[in-house]
Amino acid sequence: MVSPDKLGHFGEFGGRFVPETLMAVLLELECEFKKAMKDPSFKKEFAAYLQNFAGRPTNLYHAERLSKQLKALKVYLKREDLLHTGAHKINNTLGQIILARRMGKTRIIAETGAGQHGVATATVSALFGLKCVIYMGAEDVVRQALNVVRMRLMGATVVPVTSGSKTLKDAMNEAIRDWVTNVNDTFYIIGSVAGPHPYPMMVREFQKIIGQEARRQFLKAEGDLPDYLLACVGGGSNAMGLFHAFFNDKAVKMIGVEAAGHGLNTHAHSAAIGKGTPGILHGSKSALLQDTDGQVQIAHSIAAGLDYPGVGPEHYYYKTIGRADYVSVDDKEAIAGVKLLSRSEGIIPALESAHAVAYLSKLAKRVKGRKTVIVCLSGRGDKDMGTIKEVM
Ligand SMILES: *Cc1c(COP(=O)(O)O)cnc(C)c1O
Repeated sequence: MVSPDKLGHFGEFGGRFVPETLMAVLLELECEFKKAMKDPSFKKEFAAYLQNFAGRPTNLYHAERLSKQLKALKVYLKREDLLHTGAHKINNTLGQIILARRMGKTRIIAETGAGQHGVATATVSALFGLKCVIYMGAEDVVRQALNVVRMRLMGATVVPVTSGSKTLKDAMNEAIRDWVTNVNDTFYIIGSVAGPHPYPMMVREFQKIIGQEARRQFLKAEGDLPDYLLACVGGGSNAMGLFHAFFNDKAVKMIGVEAAGHGLNTHAHSAAIGKGTPGILHGSKSALLQDTDGQVQIAHSIAAGLDYPGVGPEHYYYKTIGRADYVSVDDKEAIAGVKLLSRSEGIIPALESAHAVAYLSKLAKRVKGRKTVIVCLSGRGDKDMGTIKEVM
């Protein structure tokens, strides 16, 4: 299995590019995380909350009508959309908050772009009665007003960030500033397989249950492993969560789908692997959308959760060693993906997940013979009805 080296590198990516003041707390976090993962009582508590609060295991559903339509593909959906709060993010926030309590932390902070990670963090903070502060770009506070209501309803303080572009990367900087100031009582919950070591490894460990379940469920249903795995990639946590358990199954091909937004030859996309270059964001080295001066570019996707200019370092590593392929799907194709799954199966996917669904149509044209595929349905579409209403 792929483990990062001692300093958190996956190949040449990852690492820990942070101010000196954060080194001690990251080392402490890494040490406590490793201890927790070896402690049966931590594993038992995490597993119990995943089952009783989040709703695991999720179904692996054979999408029969969709498969018939696609002809060349037999499609199974890993139904993370059925989890409490409607997406896979709850797996990770539960893992991190249980660790935070173990470490005696009483205050939770997080940053959020679209608000989905903020909602998942506010949810688990309410569950355990911990103080919760969410940093969110002032622009995003306006654009994602309903998620702000959700967070406040569950008792979180939402702090609008008015510096810079007033979006996710500015909220990230503000959260790091808070953490530096309040390290003693505060735990910083990062929402994807990004950030400084140990976060990419830790978030993957909390999300890898997706692939572990899917592998077992698929073997039971088909008596064999799937030919393909397909998942959308923002920061990359649902994709890595699905991929990781299959790393050593060399015959299983992995495809990560990035957001091509208005198109890869515009600047309005989020394809960090497809079009980015190596750089440092959020404390680790990975593929990044940046200009020639190294300034981070503003990403775009119709799916708010994919709207991130970087990507987790382990994905960039998978790309460089050829273990996974990364493709992209634009805004229009994603909408077509929403319609395709809604009409063929009666399942309305999140716009993020719809990127993976949309790629099925392209994959079906590429393969020879009939192939099997697991699609990670990372979330449900309820949150996207406003956007979808506009484009329809
Ligand atoms: C946040 C989100 C994503 C993107 O995050 P990853 O870390 O790439 O998984 C994808 N799908 C849904 C439904 C989300 O909420």
